[in-house]
Amino acid sequence: MNKVDKKAKSIFFATLGCRLNQAETDILKTNAISQGFRLAINESETDIFVLNSCSVTNKAQGDTEKILKKINSKYPQKEVIITGCGAKKEYEKYGRVVLNSEKQNLFDGIKNIGKEQNIYSQRTRLMYKVQDGCNNFCSYCIVPYLRGREHSLEAEKIMRELKTAEKSGIKEVVLCGVNIGKYDYKGTKLAGLIENILKNTAFLRIRLSSINPDDFSDDLVALWAQNDRLCPHFHISLQSGSDSVLTHMGRKYNTKQYSSLISKLRKAIPEVQITTDIIVGFPGETEEELTETIKFVEKIQLLKVHVFRYSPREGTRAAKMDGQISEKVKKERAVKLQKLEARIRQRILKSCIGEEVEVLFEQKKNGHYSGFTPNYIKVIKKSQKDITNQIVRVKIKGTEENEIIAN
Ligand code: SF4
Repeated sequence: MNKVDKKAKSIFFATLGCRLNQAETDILKTNAISQGFRLAINESETDIFVLNSCSVTNKAQGDTEKILKKINSKYPQKEVIITGCGAKKEYEKYGRVVLNSEKQNLFDGIKNIGKEQNIYSQRTRLMYKVQDGCNNFCSYCIVPYLRGREHSLEAEKIMRELKTAEKSGIKEVVLCGVNIGKYDYKGTKLAGLIENILKNTAFLRIRLSSINPDDFSDDLVALWAQNDRLCPHFHISLQSGSDSVLTHMGRKYNTKQYSSLISKLRKAIPEVQITTDIIVGFPGETEEELTETIKFVEKIQLLKVHVFRYSPREGTRAAKMDGQISEKVKKERAVKLQKLEARIRQRILKSCIGEEVEVLFEQKKNGHYSGFTPNYIKVIKKSQKDITNQIVRVKIKGTEENEIIAN
């Protein structure tokens, strides 16, 4: 791996909003590195501050301006770039605004001394977006209005870019998309794309980011069952464990279909772990419907449930629905579900004690390294030796709230 040129300009990236925006920031970081920039570890020591903003939630939109004001007043000399779906012309008073459609030119015009050099990333994991847009129009979601209809990245471009990433020493690639299960480029579906990636690259690990249950094909299950390089972890969006709420949300599956998918995956891939998202306090959600969700979560036993309180988004059908629920009740419902999911996670983590697992270590903090198992359990290990970006086999001796501890 090449050394980073200390004279190259450094960039600090801040991200607002969803998991997908985080994936986009990762792509911007990879682009920045390939253009010879360094990544700064914090905002105070950076030359350039990039905010990848978001307008998907009202909160993210409000936070954009707060962050820009803070950066401008604390570091008036720093170069600031505002991009992402929350970037607006009116933010030009804070820095250079680069609209999403021009994101590929983000670093144009920045003089960078390291620019001509071949500087590679020390990063371990690459988030790589292969699909964008959504045709589903779930009643609570603004994404289809912001991102447009479903479209997939050309297979040739994907292979070219992944080969470049592979040369930089990245060990794991995470394929993402707004609706990744709908990947379709000239008839090549997601399973076909992954088969090509397996054949033509040597990444040690390949993961999928979030996928909808109704898009999970039998071809994908079969592919995962046969390939050790495909990580046995899926984030399969549930959103509610109540069929009537799922109907109001405009989701295209019910709880029976969801649980039979989980059973199928567990049968085909015994070490698989599943995580999910659930929204509580959707308009009209009754106490009985919440109880249905709680019972369903107890039944399916997932590694992690990200619990969100419903937040109305202007322009969506759900924002106009009757039966909007107070913040107080939403909070109480979220806490109830969070307590349950934390108990389930502890049960799953405790079952790992005494086992040997392979971990790709990514980060070091206070002498402790952290990384993930193939099935996405976070592992912490003390080590004198630098084990970053290495896959190490470790024995599990204990658990914390969200992770397991290795010897
Ligand atoms: S599937 Fe539904 S929740 Fe997901 S992006 Fe599309 S509309 Fe939004």
